[in-house]
Amino acid sequence: MTKFSDLNLNPKVLRAIEDAGYETPTPIQAGAIPPALEGKDVLGIAQTGTGKTASFTLPMITMLARGRARARMPRSLVLCPTRELAAQVAENFDTYTKHLKLTKALLIGGVSFGEQDKLIDKGVDVLIATPGRLIDHFERGKLILSDVKIMVVDEADRMLDMGFIPDIERIFQMTPFTRQTLFFSATMAPEIERITNTFLSNPVRVEVARQATTGENIEQGVLMLTASRKDREATEKRKVLRALIDAEGDKCTNAIIFCNRKMDVDAVAKSLKKHGYDAAPIHGDLDQSQRTKTLDGFRNGDLRFLVASDVAARGLDVPSVSHVFNFDVPSHAEDYVHRIGRTGRAGRDGKAIMICVPRDEKNLADVERLVQREIPRVENPLGDKPAAKPAKETAKDATKAEKPASEDASQDDTAKDTAKPEKPKRTRTRSRKKPDPAKVEDKSSAADTPKAEASPEVKAEPQAQAKAPAPDDKPQDDKQHQNRRGGRGGRNDNNRNDNNRQQNGRNDNRVVGLGDHTPEFIELSFEQRNK
Ligand code: AMP
Repeated sequence: MTKFSDLNLNPKVLRAIEDAGYETPTPIQAGAIPPALEGKDVLGIAQTGTGKTASFTLPMITMLARGRARARMPRSLVLCPTRELAAQVAENFDTYTKHLKLTKALLIGGVSFGEQDKLIDKGVDVLIATPGRLIDHFERGKLILSDVKIMVVDEADRMLDMGFIPDIERIFQMTPFTRQTLFFSATMAPEIERITNTFLSNPVRVEVARQATTGENIEQGVLMLTASRKDREATEKRKVLRALIDAEGDKCTNAIIFCNRKMDVDAVAKSLKKHGYDAAPIHGDLDQSQRTKTLDGFRNGDLRFLVASDVAARGLDVPSVSHVFNFDVPSHAEDYVHRIGRTGRAGRDGKAIMICVPRDEKNLADVERLVQREIPRVENPLGDKPAAKPAKETAKDATKAEKPASEDASQDDTAKDTAKPEKPKRTRTRSRKKPDPAKVEDKSSAADTPKAEASPEVKAEPQAQAKAPAPDDKPQDDKQHQNRRGGRGGRNDNNRNDNNRQQNGRNDNRVVGLGDHTPEFIELSFEQRNK
């Protein structure tokens, strides 16, 4: 078996590895470090959790140990898709350079340019950046990339998902043709293949097996859930989630709960919190200081449940996550692999449980095809009809729903979930304004707004039951409800047309025809005739 000492790493780097407690290189490290140290381009096909960060930081540090950086001219560059991942890579550099004198700067959004400029001005050996911020600095003339000797692209597939590929191409062109490139991606989509063919020179390809197919240390399960009523789906999912967490008991020391949409991240976090679970959300709309605070809390064990979107959680290295809960089946099968890779890291045991509603069964089939196995079905800890309430209770809840919103916010999820069946709701919808999508998003992610506790999916319902269609009766909620329930295609389009029609009619309060809408010239002639 390969040892770190076989890899030709700088002795001071070896000492730092020892300090970190790592004994043997992981497969991606054993495969990528030797060619990287020989100055070759490397194409690493591996995902987080495999030790890939060290597979590029260790050889980089070894190679950079000699020489010094000049002002504004970094000697190496690491590009990461998210701020969190960039910060994590920076931490890795700190760990492995502790016995060396290398300088680094982290260029990420949400941090003032001034501080970053100062560091760059002094000259840095390693520049770790997200693509947008790097380009901003470059365009401000503060950064010269002509001395970059090693360039790393980390998580290229996520860069692709986030639309960063044009930026990456630009950055490649800003660096010298002679640079060495270490390029990492969990998958090789055609677009990624094209980039590597264009910008890598005869790379050594190192591929490590997918975690999901080899991760025997991750126990996986999927709970098939059919909601008692479609309009209660989100509420029942949240209830089942709590039951799943409870069923794990003390074995669940901490967990990441993934949702497909930001608004669900907020709703699930709020709901969990309200039910006494120590949970906080993380997604791209939260400001950086909040994200950092939440992450730090989760890492140091102060926070037990991190509710996350895929982008925010990408590349998070939290070694001791015991559980991953997928509140939704991810719509990109690849994301399943990334998500469950948050648990069972570095050889530890982990558990990943997913909730699948009928609408997501196609996505589940895609996931199973990708991981080449059937994910075992797990029983609903609440029984078959998890959150169904007896009819009379529903009626009672509907009455509660008439209470003001502020009161509403203090009620149980289920109590708020008093939706009417599809048909009446649709009728009501027609009388409503088309929502402003920006407002919808804002509203659901306004963490401090009490009403946001219930997902708007839930919020919209009581009004359906309790009120006549008042003209401006929370239009956004209702539309949001439709969108989130997957009301796509024909039905939604029809509604949109109806909405428009109704909206035109409603906004113009005048009676159409010859009422108070009478054109002036006709009124004039009447008046004249009457005289
Ligand atoms: P990464 O894939 O880079 O996100 O790393 C996943 C986790 O594995 C991190 O917590 C690393 O600190 C840890 N790790 C990296 N290399 C090794 C190693 N050789 N042995 C054990 N753990 C490692």
